[in-house]
Amino acid sequence: MYQYNDSDTICAISTAPGCGGIAVIRVSGPDAISIINKIWRGKPLSSVGTHTAHLGTITDPENPTEPLDSGVATVFRAPGTFTGEDVVEISVHGSVWIQRELINLLIRTGCRLAQPGEFTRRAFANGKLDLAQAEAVADVIAATSRSAHRLASSQMRGDFSKRIGTLREKLIEIASLLELELDFSEEDVEFASRIHLAELAKNLHTEISSLAATFSTGSALKNGIPVAIVGEPNAGKSTLLNALLNESRAIVSDIPGTTRDTVEDTIEIDGVMYRFIDTAGLRETSDHVENLGIGRSFEAIERARIVIWLVTPDISQEKLTELHTEIKKHLAEGATLLTVLNKTDLLASPTDLPHPLQNIFTESQEPVTTEKSTQRPILISASTGHNIDRLTQALHTLSGTNDSAGADLMVTNARHYEALTLAAESLARVLDGLRANLSGDFIAQDLRETIHHLSAITGTITTTDLLTSIFQNFCIGK
Ligand code: GDP
Repeated sequence: MYQYNDSDTICAISTAPGCGGIAVIRVSGPDAISIINKIWRGKPLSSVGTHTAHLGTITDPENPTEPLDSGVATVFRAPGTFTGEDVVEISVHGSVWIQRELINLLIRTGCRLAQPGEFTRRAFANGKLDLAQAEAVADVIAATSRSAHRLASSQMRGDFSKRIGTLREKLIEIASLLELELDFSEEDVEFASRIHLAELAKNLHTEISSLAATFSTGSALKNGIPVAIVGEPNAGKSTLLNALLNESRAIVSDIPGTTRDTVEDTIEIDGVMYRFIDTAGLRETSDHVENLGIGRSFEAIERARIVIWLVTPDISQEKLTELHTEIKKHLAEGATLLTVLNKTDLLASPTDLPHPLQNIFTESQEPVTTEKSTQRPILISASTGHNIDRLTQALHTLSGTNDSAGADLMVTNARHYEALTLAAESLARVLDGLRANLSGDFIAQDLRETIHHLSAITGTITTTDLLTSIFQNFCIGK
């Protein structure tokens, strides 16, 4: 394994791979300025102030007659820089050849190629960011929707870390109260009543658990909310998907499915990214649909947080009940079933619905079922676009973006979620111990464990392995 040496001066291309208008090569480390100075024709960079930009020419000293490129060097002097070290960013023309030659030249002049995420790792090592903030740098860069961006930038600013820090301080306070009790146990003096300590621990347990509980929404907002559109053949699923794609007026991209080799349509609507599961098949054919009309879509239902069940006015009561039972069976824990009646343009008015649908699909009616299905049916026409906005509003409500209480403070990172879950578990043991009046020694042990798990989130306590596993997922140049 590569050994990080923080005294090396590192370099990497920080712009996206390939050819662009310009490319930025970032250099960081104790010799950043002196190394660049050796290949720089222009004002000597050793004498310039911090946070200043300079036009010049990059020339290999071994080939002085043929400059590599003209460019701009921006000099940032330690310690007020991203990494906390001297940093120089060189902007050159975006040719792939120039980028490669410049990196080679920098390496020949004394730099080392940066490891993945090494700039951010150095920022962490130099106390510029804590670990949760460093992880958020990658999330800000990867964000593809307004809500994902908002969550990541709030975390990068340190809001999440502050919350963890406060929880940690309160735990330390309990620990010190318990310690006092231990120190003076011989003297039979009660310093903090067990009831008071249990009260404090209980409140913290509630806070930690509810923070952990935001992970499901937080990770869906970060990665896109999985939505399945199901229904019988010809219900209008692909027409609806196209209507939603048109509605989005935003980037629409095909991304490879995360768990299988399918292509998923992702759509940003009102700042939230939705991943439509298994839609590749929807668009081309309904062949895979088996007799119940939803066939292998069961798998899509299981993976979805929101299931749009499309029915048409001509569906029989029998089929309706049968499909509904099947869908409910496959609905994931916490997922919502959105019943949508399509092709309403074929009806004079929704109240003309043939019996028995009339009772079910009149808008003022209660949902088809109360169990696992909290939404009223929405009446749309996928082909005319009628009420598609109602449907997107319903999606937005279900996305959880509007869940007010600290909406920006959601857990989006699986590592943080795991640590919070472990912290909640050990704190529950503390609580049990306090209630059972166990000896302070036992309780202190679990309390230390709780503090440890929270400390691991922000990196107050960390290991080289943990850092490596986090930063190796970054790209080179970050
Ligand atoms: P899928 O098999 O569920 O994907 O259904 P399609 O989207 O292929 O639609 C089946 C047929 O229903 C096509 O001929 C569509 O044009 C038609 N269709 C879809 N939505 C509507 C609608 O809202 N109103 C009417 N009248 N026809 C629709």
